[in-house]
Amino acid sequence: MKKFIHILLSAGLLLTLTGCVKDGEFNMASAMMVGAGVLQAATLDEKQVVKTASLSAKELDKKNKVAPAGSKYDVRLQRIVRGLENADGLRLNYKVYLDKSVNAFAMPDGTVRVHSGLLDAMPDDQVLAVIGHEIGHVKLKHSYNQMRSQLLTNAAFQAAASTGGDIGALTSSQLGGLAYKAINARFSQRDELAADRYAVEFLRSRSKDPQAMTRSIKTLQAKYGSGGGFLSSHPSNPQRIDNLEKAIDGQ
Ligand SMILES: [Zn+2]
Repeated sequence: MKKFIHILLSAGLLLTLTGCVKDGEFNMASAMMVGAGVLQAATLDEKQVVKTASLSAKELDKKNKVAPAGSKYDVRLQRIVRGLENADGLRLNYKVYLDKSVNAFAMPDGTVRVHSGLLDAMPDDQVLAVIGHEIGHVKLKHSYNQMRSQLLTNAAFQAAASTGGDIGALTSSQLGGLAYKAINARFSQRDELAADRYAVEFLRSRSKDPQAMTRSIKTLQAKYGSGGGFLSSHPSNPQRIDNLEKAIDGQ
């Protein structure tokens, strides 16, 4: 199963890549870099990361089939997210990719993309819960940390930095590669549980049913199971559901 369901995935395999880059690790990584790239990496700031996310998202939009405005899928998504153009100060933009795999993701610049396969798999309230979960990854900086880690270990970025260039010097395909890695990389189990809890508050603060988050996991589990391939290495859904129930109960 190559195309996977992000929402069900959260193995801790990439913990060191997806978690916060601790000072010690960062310094060691810096020491391994050479030339001006070291300076560039050390000064890689939030603006640059967000700019890269934005440029990468544009590449993704070019490579994927975006549901046209006014089409069935786009109309449905825009209806689901009506009034959610901002989340805690983050400006959001939503589009549907015509892709049968069940997936959704958000990027640090506020790009939110939902696959038509996910829209086919669940009702509106559960789609909104999944979107809340994805926005959680952005607001809790999981996506930012991931994109930053990708940049710090990216050969093209290092090459551009070593010649005095910056992120703007990356080619379309390099940006596309970065975006692909960012959206396919897995978050740690801790991050997944935190994003689930964010989704509960996201829904509750908008007077929506927070149980929709739990239902979305159950829907995916019922349709796609939890064994085999990728899914066998993921944290248990019961643990996520237990975490959600506690969050919903205010624990
Ligand atoms: Zn997630």
